[in-house]
Amino acid sequence: MPLFVPLPAAVNYGRLMITRCLTAILVSAALQAVSTAPSIAADPNLLARCWPATALPASDGERKPRRHDARRDPAIPAIQLPAASSIPRALRGAVRRVKLPPGKKLVALTLDMCEQRGEISGYDGPVIDALRANGVRATIFAGGKWMLSHPERAQQILADPRLEIGNHGWAHRNVRGLSGHDLLQEILGPQAAFQSIRAELSQRACVAGSDHTLQPRLALYRFPFGACRAEALDALADNGMLAIQWDVSTGDSSKAETTKGIVAALLNEVKPGSIVLAHANGRGYRTAEALAIAIPKLKARGYDFVTVSELLAAGELVISPTCYDRRPGDTDRYDNLFASRLRPAPPPAAHKDATRVRSPFSE
Ligand SMILES: [Zn+2]
Repeated sequence: MPLFVPLPAAVNYGRLMITRCLTAILVSAALQAVSTAPSIAADPNLLARCWPATALPASDGERKPRRHDARRDPAIPAIQLPAASSIPRALRGAVRRVKLPPGKKLVALTLDMCEQRGEISGYDGPVIDALRANGVRATIFAGGKWMLSHPERAQQILADPRLEIGNHGWAHRNVRGLSGHDLLQEILGPQAAFQSIRAELSQRACVAGSDHTLQPRLALYRFPFGACRAEALDALADNGMLAIQWDVSTGDSSKAETTKGIVAALLNEVKPGSIVLAHANGRGYRTAEALAIAIPKLKARGYDFVTVSELLAAGELVISPTCYDRRPGDTDRYDNLFASRLRPAPPPAAHKDATRVRSPFSE
């Protein structure tokens, strides 16, 4: 069962008893560390300064994922990563939602940009356009490969004052089968991709020395398939990242899900402090249509859309010791479905089966 942090009057931390007060201080310090300001672009005019209005909306052909020769997948950029403070043990676990003070109605919409080996997934322009049209703040969990295969779109998201970027793994591998070097590659590879994208944006004339106004690093992590294990949670915490799950799963990555079903999930399941899972990589099949209907209705009910970092700062974190979709253990099924992905990655030239394994994220 999830637990609130800080919930207990005292936490047994080895031989040390930490009081509720000290736990609260630890949580507060950790949140400051992971939400290093700014968590989004602080310059409200940067997006318009760097791109003409015609370059921002959806364009034809971008939405649909396509297969790609896995041997030509990009390498993780060799780039210096910014220092990150480790997260206290009290925060190790998967954040499901946030318990807010009475009367506060915030919701964090998250959109995953999953991209596996042997593919170039999509950019769902209508989804991002719907966020901009409705003035909705949101968090985009981007894969490392995705950022490198969509550099212009990734820079636009980074420059957008409404959008925060989180880490969705290097190549969307199930970390339950990874350890050591492979595990670190999966969780730190996107940090390197982000720094590369950030450096490219910083060098544009439109930024002109104001790169300090950009999000500095990725502080939030979304486990591919919503699956994790203790070693992966420790590795995230050691590298200054919080694991962010969700309490509202829209089901938008299923082709069988209808617009009506996604809207119903949003309207029936969102509550104050909710974190909503959806997709914007072309495998959210009716996401844009559903958001166009649900966002105005949730706003009419008094909800404000915020980024995950903003939501975390507004209340008490509800943390589960394990990762799951709707109930504990339900993402363990991917252990078998993705058996071939649970082994260490073979050398690229020998890897021939990356596109053969079908998944709920594959067409
Ligand atoms: Zn994903």
